[in-house]
Amino acid sequence: MNIPFVDLSVQHLPIMDDMRAAMEAVIKKGDFILGKDVSDFENAFAKYCGVDFAIGVDSGTSALEIVLRAMNVGPGDEVITVANTFIATASAISFTGARPVLVDIDPETYTISIDGIAEAISPKTKAVIPVHLYGHPADMDPILDLAKANRLPVIEDACQAHGATYKGRQVGSLGDAGCFSFYPAKNLGAFGDGGMVTTGNLEIADRIRMLRNYGQREKYDHRLIGYNCRLDTLQAAVLKAKLPCLNKWNEERRRNADIYNEMLSGTELALPLEAEYAHHVYHLYVVRAKDRDALQSYLADRGIGTGIHYPIPIHRQKAYTQLGYVQNSVPYVEAYADQILSLPMFPGMRRDQVEYTARTIKAFYG
Ligand SMILES: *Cc1c(COP(=O)(O)O)cnc(C)c1O
Repeated sequence: MNIPFVDLSVQHLPIMDDMRAAMEAVIKKGDFILGKDVSDFENAFAKYCGVDFAIGVDSGTSALEIVLRAMNVGPGDEVITVANTFIATASAISFTGARPVLVDIDPETYTISIDGIAEAISPKTKAVIPVHLYGHPADMDPILDLAKANRLPVIEDACQAHGATYKGRQVGSLGDAGCFSFYPAKNLGAFGDGGMVTTGNLEIADRIRMLRNYGQREKYDHRLIGYNCRLDTLQAAVLKAKLPCLNKWNEERRRNADIYNEMLSGTELALPLEAEYAHHVYHLYVVRAKDRDALQSYLADRGIGTGIHYPIPIHRQKAYTQLGYVQNSVPYVEAYADQILSLPMFPGMRRDQVEYTARTIKAFYG
């Protein structure tokens, strides 16, 4: 059997007609930039997340950068985030001129350590960006308490967690703003790049609307030095057609995670946890294995695709040597980087594919 790490075609084939119709309608209208589908999708996504405002942008990276800009984060400032995340969380901070301050993870949930944040807060800190990594929400209440006590805004990096909830509330509605990516393989993906900012703050929403569109309020009235980082109307039309499927797709991910959990319990692997406060949406199903590289090639030889998220933590990337982290400053991130392995996980993945993957892992451990 051949099992890809991710197969997007199985989610798209059943809704091909809807998506074709949505794209054709945009083409017929010729309404390609900030067309009605963008505002329709923004309204639908805001409602889904339970926030007042959602502003479409061209990627998750732009969403993060533009929120920081809207909050006036810049040179000389520090922004606290976590060392095990996708590089874009850190690069968005760097784009503003601020310094990313990278802290360790909680060893159980792989999300940002609360003690790590407390230790990292300095007079230069201007914001905190917890990441809902792999689809598991960070423990937001203590983060929000700590941030409030220090008058810091909290920006959720929800790029891997569309539809995840924390104590019953949607991610993206918990902090001062939430940032989503619609990269095709995310839980909700476009046919290319896209992103979204969610917020309940009118002033931030207003600044972001300007910043994404040349800084203008009305045409040729430029209040801010802005970007061109709008969500394409065609992408919004596709995303609007896909949004009604998101909960079903997340449930399919959760069902597959249950099968993995059941079949792999009792092996040497450390399996992912779902904290009591969390509704995990398994953007990734990540296990830890002491002999990770051998397991990964054993699976590859048997047709099973896997991934590593992420093999090199941010403080060890060449681009970030200037941060000057000393060895073992984020011990869990460093220890886990050599052990984590992401198993095949995508909506539409069949039970027999999950079972074959789990059986092959068991065979590896004899
Ligand atoms: C995907 C991702 C991003 C960046 O999103 P893009 O749309 O690829 O720019 C940021 N943070 C995390 C955690 C991500 O997974």
